[in-house]
Amino acid sequence: KLSIRNLQKQFGDNTILRGVDIDVYSQEVIVIIGPSGSGKSTLLRCINGLESINGGEVYIDDCKIEYTPSALQQVRQRIGMVFQSYNLFPHLTVIENLLLAPMKVQKRAKSEVLPQARELLEQVGLLDKADSYPAQLSGGQQQRVAIARSLVMNPEVLLFDEVTSALDPERVRDVLDVMKDLASRGTTMLIVTHEMGFGRDVGDRIIFMDQGVIVEQGPPEVVFGNPQEERTRQFLRNAM
Ligand code: ATP
Ligand code: MG
Repeated sequence: KLSIRNLQKQFGDNTILRGVDIDVYSQEVIVIIGPSGSGKSTLLRCINGLESINGGEVYIDDCKIEYTPSALQQVRQRIGMVFQSYNLFPHLTVIENLLLAPMKVQKRAKSEVLPQARELLEQVGLLDKADSYPAQLSGGQQQRVAIARSLVMNPEVLLFDEVTSALDPERVRDVLDVMKDLASRGTTMLIVTHEMGFGRDVGDRIIFMDQGVIVEQGPPEVVFGNPQEERTRQFLRNAM
C-alpha cells in the first residue's frame, strides 16, 4: 500500500500541490485525470523523489519514505516510474537495458535476472527484439521495453505519466494493452493519462485533479458517467 498524506509542493511562489491525499491499495489501479498544469506530473515526480516536497508524507506499507539522497535509490526500486519519453540506453540492446539496473543497483546475478527479463519481454510481446537496439524499434515498442525495464526491478507500485502521448495513434493501442494486461495480473499502478476510454476501462478508481487538489474521486462509472462536481463535468465535456 502506498499512502500519500497532505502532499504539498511549491515552485518558488507558485503552489502546485495543495495537500493531496491518496491511498493506493495493493493490486489497485488508480487513474489520475485533469487539465494541463493541474500538477499530475509533479505529484508523480514527488512520490518517487524526482522533486523535493514542501510538506506532507509518503508511506509505503506504513513505513515513511525519507527522501534523502541515500534513501532515494531504495525508493526508486520500490516505486517504479515510466515516462512519456522512454529514455532507453541507446548503446545497449533491449535485453541489456533490462539487465542493467537489477545487476548494478540490486546486485542480482545475471543467471537469476535473465530468465525474468526474457519472460517480461515475452509478456510485452517483444522477446524477438531482445538483441535489437532501441533505435531499431518503433516508439510503441520502445515504450513497452521501458515498461518491462521498470517491472524487472520488482517494484511494489508503478507510476505511469502520459506514457502514450508521444506515440503515433496506431502504436498507442499496443502500449495500453500491455498496461491492461498488467492490471489484470494485479500490478499496483498509479496512472496519469489523457486517454479517457482507457482510464474508464482499466481504473478501479478515478481521481480528477485541478489546480493542485483532488476535486473528485470515485469509481469510473461515477466519475465518468455521473460526475458530482461541476468542474469535473466541464473538464470531461472538453476532454471526451
Ligand atoms: P500536463 O497535463 O500538461 O502534463 P500536469 O498536470 O502534469 O500537466 P505539471 O507538469 O505537474 O502539470 O505542472 C504543474 C505546474 O507546475 C505547472 O504550472 C508548471 O508550470 C509548474 N512546474 C512544473 N515543473 C516545474 C519546475 N521544474 N519549475 C517551475 N514550475 C514547474
Ligand atoms: Mg504532466
